[in-house]
Amino acid sequence: MSAVTRWPVWSLPGRLLGAVLAVEALALLLVVLDVVTTVRAGFSAGAVADVALTLALLTGAGFLTAELAVHVERLRSRVVHGGASTADVDPSPVWAFAAALLLPPLAACAVVTAMFCFVRYRVRRRSGRSPLFKAAFTFATLILAVHAAAAMAEFSGLGAAQPLRSGIGVLVVASAVLGFVVVNTCLVVGVVVMSSDKTVRDMVGQSGDEVLLEVAALCVGGLIAMAVITQPWLVLFAVPPLLVLHRAVLVRQLEKQAATDSKTGLLTAGAWHDRATLRIDHARDAGSSAAVLVVDLDHFKQVNDRHGHIAGDYVLQAVAALLREDVRGADLVGRFGGEEFVLLLPQAGDRYAYSELQVVAERIRRRVAELQVAVPTPDGTLTIDGLSVSVGGAVFPHDGNHLLDVLAVADTALYAAKRAGRNAVRMGRHDTVAIRPDEIVDPPVVRQIEDATPPA
Ligand code: GH3
Ligand code: MG
Ligand code: MG
Repeated sequence: MSAVTRWPVWSLPGRLLGAVLAVEALALLLVVLDVVTTVRAGFSAGAVADVALTLALLTGAGFLTAELAVHVERLRSRVVHGGASTADVDPSPVWAFAAALLLPPLAACAVVTAMFCFVRYRVRRRSGRSPLFKAAFTFATLILAVHAAAAMAEFSGLGAAQPLRSGIGVLVVASAVLGFVVVNTCLVVGVVVMSSDKTVRDMVGQSGDEVLLEVAALCVGGLIAMAVITQPWLVLFAVPPLLVLHRAVLVRQLEKQAATDSKTGLLTAGAWHDRATLRIDHARDAGSSAAVLVVDLDHFKQVNDRHGHIAGDYVLQAVAALLREDVRGADLVGRFGGEEFVLLLPQAGDRYAYSELQVVAERIRRRVAELQVAVPTPDGTLTIDGLSVSVGGAVFPHDGNHLLDVLAVADTALYAAKRAGRNAVRMGRHDTVAIRPDEIVDPPVVRQIEDATPPA
């Protein structure tokens, strides 16, 4: 009993624990109902043999796919770190989905269970298992998704005896895919939103690619079901495309990782530059506008010197989080290098005026000045405040027709802000004379916001 009370699941916050247990209880209830329905319906020996054969075929081919995908999974766990998505490669949904189309729900649940055990105890043994309560939740979502797919197939099959063979087969598979994806995605998004600071909007933005991959995998699952009813051995032809899909997940995760600065979670300088160039090209074609802000922490070296580099890293992360929160979804936030950040703010409607950009930059400057960064240390929590940033801004197309031109102007404005004593915002082209030491004024500083003349 005490072993049960020590399970990590009990440490989940109340609401999340309630949701996880509700999903698991519902999955269990459906399986119990499946058992009762199967026993009540009775079954002939022939029907049992048919079901057993299909079940064996699907689980066998599922095990083969999982086993062959192991090297992709091993590579993934070695090279993909926390910053990028760490969703792993699990072929179970494909085979569970095919089972939902071909088998009675109880037998489909048996395929899910067999795949779950195989992946957990044979494949993940080499690449690291997630805690049991997380795996149990994933298992329960699969059971629910399988039931949703079966219910949608039944509903759209219009009572046909063999809906997959009939003319409405495509509709049946499509509606089953819909049922599976909706249930699986909603449950996963729901727990992530409840267990992290992510919103449903963040998740919808982030999981678009993942949903597409899931739909692609389920389409293969639909083809597998079609193959089984025509020529069962055709199932083997589904294995290579599934392995290629697994690789596609890995490539996507690596792309995401390569574009993400591991310390701050912002775009790397290279990824920001590539994406910002595309946005500027788009703005040029559309005759719209965009703005660039360069944000540099003032006297950041002193933070490191006073509190150490680890504390400095906490400050960088806090400023990065603040910048991400402060901008709109379409804006691009990158870490340019060290303690320097860049933002691209596309504008769909009217052209950006300096005064408008100044408001955004001022808000960032003010919020950084109010920032209190909590740094855990062996002697308790250290709070770092009194931070400030200097910000330089420039506008496309007023300050240049290409990203680098606009960036160069924003950079001159940043240096003007530094020259003006830091903790300041400047817009547009400024003289680029070298800063003489006697020009540098230490904060606190009276900010002088230059006359902001809106671009023509
Ligand atoms: P200024 O107001 O002129 O910008 O002064 P500054 O001290 O912010 O600028 P300087 O270029 O002299 O120093 C930047 C410092 O940023 C030096 C470097 O050690 C620190 N830095 C760069 N990258 C990191 C990092 O990833 N973590 C930490 N903790 N410090 C970093
Ligand atoms: Mg600096
Ligand atoms: Mg700097």
